[in-house]
Amino acid sequence: MNFQESSIGLWLLVSAFFVARYVLMAGISFLVFYVYSGKGAKSKKIQKKAPSTQKITKEIFYSLLTLLIYGSGIWLFIGWLEAGNTLHYENISDYGIPYFIVSLALMVVIHDTYFYWTHRLIHHRFLFKHIHKVHHQFTNPTPWSAFSFHPLEAVLSMGVVPIIIFCIPWHQSALIAFISFMTLYDVYIHLGYDLKQLRLGQWQNTAEDHNHHHQNARVNFGLYFRIWDQLMGTYKKLPRTV
Ligand SMILES: [Zn+2]
Ligand SMILES: [Zn+2]
Repeated sequence: MNFQESSIGLWLLVSAFFVARYVLMAGISFLVFYVYSGKGAKSKKIQKKAPSTQKITKEIFYSLLTLLIYGSGIWLFIGWLEAGNTLHYENISDYGIPYFIVSLALMVVIHDTYFYWTHRLIHHRFLFKHIHKVHHQFTNPTPWSAFSFHPLEAVLSMGVVPIIIFCIPWHQSALIAFISFMTLYDVYIHLGYDLKQLRLGQWQNTAEDHNHHHQNARVNFGLYFRIWDQLMGTYKKLPRTV
């Protein structure tokens, strides 16, 4: 197998892993809340209208495209690793388990800040019209819209990975756990259902907050936390619509 074949094979393998993880998380959520949901679950639906099949198909298409783009990031990632100037460490014992847990929390905090500010950026009139509008066409989001981005937004969203791997010491298991958590949290905020059981505190960005962002593009830009929105005056709790 020559280099070209092996690197395409690697891209397909990594993309297939991303797609499988996403289909599992979004698929189970979709089956539970949209296909087999009972009356009890329906009362928790944030927008009472059901999303159209056409919109859901589009959500899946754009999400799969994003995951193929994410998969291609493996070439850059391996190049950086081989160059040896990321802050990667081999054994968890090098920094210990407490740091391993702290590094996970740092990844989430760094990503929350990166997400908030790049999200504000793509709400600039020009960038919104040409890029971010793709995500906002889904005004009644489902778990399938978690990664339904314009390809350029997909590339921009990957920018958090080099920030993490060049700025903090990281172990591969922590990075994989962080990206899996990010995928799950993205599915959660696009769920379209308000689940009190998943509310941990006033600081947390919830499915309801992000659903409102899809209805009113001027508020609630956060991902995991409300902190940046509260600091910048962009947090708003909107009344429910029917
Ligand atoms: Zn969204
Ligand atoms: Zn937005």
